[in-house]
Amino acid sequence: MERERLDVGVLIVGAGPAGLATALRLTQLYEQHNAEIDAGTRQGEKLSTEDICVLEKGKEIGAHLLSGAVLDPRSLRELVPDFDKPGSPDRAPLATEVKHDEVYYLTEKGQWKFPILPPFFQNHGNYIVSLNRLGRWLGQKVEAAGATVFTGFSGKELLYEGSRVVGVRTDDKGLDRAGKPKSNHEPGYDVRAKVTVLAEGPRGSLTKQLLGKMRLDDRINDQRNPQTYAVGVKELWEVPAGRIEPGTVIHTAGWPLDAGHFGGGFIYAMPEGLISLGLVAGLDYHDPAFDPQVALQRYKTHPLLRKIFEGGKMIKYGAKTIPEGGWYSLPPLAIEGALLVGDSAGFLNSQRLKGIHLAIKSGMLAAGTIFDGMLCNDLSEEALSKYAQRVEQSWIREELWQVRNYHQAMEGGMVLGGLHVGLQMLTGGRGLYERYTARPGHEALHKRGNGAAAAKVAFDGKLTFDKLTDVYHSATKHEEDQPCHLLISDTNICNTRCAEEYGNPCQYFCPAAVYEMVDSKSAGKQIHLNPSNCVHCKTCDIMDPYQIITWVPPEGGGGPSYENL
Ligand SMILES: Cc1cc2nc3c(=O)[nH]c(=O)nc-3n(C[C@H](O)[C@H](O)[C@H](O)COP(=O)(O)OP(=O)(O)OC[C@H]3O[C@@H](n4cnc5c(N)ncnc54)[C@H](O)[C@@H]3O)c2cc1C
Repeated sequence: MERERLDVGVLIVGAGPAGLATALRLTQLYEQHNAEIDAGTRQGEKLSTEDICVLEKGKEIGAHLLSGAVLDPRSLRELVPDFDKPGSPDRAPLATEVKHDEVYYLTEKGQWKFPILPPFFQNHGNYIVSLNRLGRWLGQKVEAAGATVFTGFSGKELLYEGSRVVGVRTDDKGLDRAGKPKSNHEPGYDVRAKVTVLAEGPRGSLTKQLLGKMRLDDRINDQRNPQTYAVGVKELWEVPAGRIEPGTVIHTAGWPLDAGHFGGGFIYAMPEGLISLGLVAGLDYHDPAFDPQVALQRYKTHPLLRKIFEGGKMIKYGAKTIPEGGWYSLPPLAIEGALLVGDSAGFLNSQRLKGIHLAIKSGMLAAGTIFDGMLCNDLSEEALSKYAQRVEQSWIREELWQVRNYHQAMEGGMVLGGLHVGLQMLTGGRGLYERYTARPGHEALHKRGNGAAAAKVAFDGKLTFDKLTDVYHSATKHEEDQPCHLLISDTNICNTRCAEEYGNPCQYFCPAAVYEMVDSKSAGKQIHLNPSNCVHCKTCDIMDPYQIITWVPPEGGGGPSYENL
């Protein structure tokens, strides 16, 4: 197949906070460099911001971004100093400043309010934001500075020269279900770059390809923990005036999650009665019939939440995974020709449920490294590895080191985990051992067989909703006639072994009803997929017990259309 080739200096895959911060910081450094050449204070060649290119699979910037979100503004202030200055043209779309925090432990019918807020739940000086609005604003800045953001294009596979990453092939458009060209067929482009930055968010598909290759090369070994994840399911609500003061941040632990299940809920109140409501559940749980979307519905029936949400209106829904493994799960950050930033690398503080500030900071550090490499015309692996040194010397390391064993300790449940965490706080993050080891989350699933049954809720269509109604509120759309983007390497395993051993957990863990077991008269229950429902959360790629599901990007532009999430 003939493919067009596009040559760029820096290619960034993913227009989330990490990718956009990389691009924006690069444009700032290029502009400053060029201005110094103009002023005669610097020698050398000018650098063009047009040489920076961002690929985003969403149909527009922000369409696939979903977060809580309480923003720790530390890195945004470094990137855009006037982002919160009233009246400034640089002012970011901030919903509100956080006014006060509350933390509760929930039982099914009751609650216990923490009398003292643990430091990691204190959000004084932080802002409540919608990540897709923040992403759109950052994207406009990147484009205004001369870089190009190609929306509706996904990075489908990495291009190599020897072992060096030299760019990305974008998705083919206009292929039918069987992979045959339709009349609107347009082959993907080969975008070749001096450096490729992977900013795909959690469980990136290109990142997975690259790390898989490194594992085979034995460059990732037992000195690191495997990445562990959580899934966050979220609804945006509009509630009658006076229910909750804008700027209120509520976090909860406990019900509806079991005592041994890592996670918790959040309620972030914005002006005009808008509320971000979400439940985050560790993807290292035991019960194969656990269903995060159902758990979110049950969560709302708790008296504490019912009094906030009853009589209100659910207006949006979405889901996304979160890398929770922390410092010991970070992969090599610089690989020949490529850098990993943001959630793709795993920069997330799971104790604070915050990754946006780390995504932005890691993007800025990657940009600084690339810029230095461009100046001395050295983008070798050794030159790029200075990015890892910059991370080591930055406040990213300081912050993540303090919580390096947090998620692993909490795998022991609230009581034992709480004791470990207390000890970790007293020992600067160490706890009982220097590194608490971890295993991939899907290995935690207990075998249950066909007895597995999800917790039930009687959906009333007012406070609680079935999965398809929620998916409708994610505004997800895909071209129906295209190759399936959820690759199951052996569906026999689904229909036989998985049915017997785990009761097909994919029907429960998928928050978008993509996977169903459908009765076929001749062969019993068979796996059936609804890929056009997929909200790109990647839970299936992570939690499938046999690791036979691979999520690959569908035709660019397909997927959710998140707004205000
Ligand atoms: C429910 C929930 C609540 C959260 N709450 C908070 C919070 O309160 N505060 C906080 O700081 N953090 C929070 N986080 C975490 C935070 O959202 C992430 O850490 C942050 O968004 C990571 O930014 P990123 O740019 O690395 O990745 P992302 O935000 O995931 O962006 C990645 C982008 O890359 C695109 N992409 C992916 N693959 C490809 C490809 N192959 N080709 C082209 N494009 C691609 C995606 O479409 C997406 O636009 C929360 C996360 C969740 C899910």
